[in-house]
Amino acid sequence: MIREGDKVLLIDRRGKRYLVTVSEREFHTDLGILKLGELIGKEYGSRITSHRNEEFRVLKPDINDIIAKMKRGPQIVHPKDAGIILAYAGISPGDTVIEAGVGSGALTIFLANAVGPNGRVISYERREDFARIAQKNIELAGFSDRVTIKLKDIYEGIDEEYANHIVLDLPQPENVLPHAVEVLRPGGYFVAYTPCTNQVHRFFQAFQEYREHFYKPRVVEVLVREHEVKKECMRPKTTMLAHTGYITFIRKL
Ligand code: SAM
Repeated sequence: MIREGDKVLLIDRRGKRYLVTVSEREFHTDLGILKLGELIGKEYGSRITSHRNEEFRVLKPDINDIIAKMKRGPQIVHPKDAGIILAYAGISPGDTVIEAGVGSGALTIFLANAVGPNGRVISYERREDFARIAQKNIELAGFSDRVTIKLKDIYEGIDEEYANHIVLDLPQPENVLPHAVEVLRPGGYFVAYTPCTNQVHRFFQAFQEYREHFYKPRVVEVLVREHEVKKECMRPKTTMLAHTGYITFIRKL
């Protein structure tokens, strides 16, 4: 049942989505004004009607809705890449994950969702403005209880004594290797997301020194080909997101 203060997702007849907080206020759209107080006591999946008699469906927002609507600082990790990070590293409920940099907090939200209420995500970020944006986004997703943002350059060191996994989206992940060797639990993954091939190359040059501590590396790139689904024709979309980044996985022995 929907309560005052809940975040809800409204979807209009065109498929446009709105993320709103339920309260006794009006919400203005180009399809008319909604009295959000009417949502209190309704079930998810129900409808609300604007003063212009336009219907909106009401859903409970998931993390993808939150990420789509939240404020952005730097470029976020795309869900296709977040998905493979969670799957290949086997990030699970109860895990402690060290992350850097937090950026807009999109990957942090995926990680926090995966580790669950008994897990922890400790996210290093060296820019205060991005840390502030991410903190708000993490609150919006409802994960402040399990995420700690540290205003610190992770290249200088990791304060924590252990981590199940280390997940990085920053320019020089090789600078974190000496710290990772100290804190990463055996069996845990070191994951580095980097957009450019030369970053991957530089990482593996530095990795040679640490090779004995890790199981064989894996580097992947995720390509998702989406299809257009129409009544008369289903076919691949003309354009696709061709490149985001390379994801390197190394597992601690
Ligand atoms: N993964 C984030 C997301 O999905 O929203 C986006 C991360 S953004 C591309 C990269 C971030 O790393 C920036 O916010 C930058 O300030 C931060 N950063 C770069 N080097 C860092 C370092 N040595 N320690 C901590 N943060 C760092």
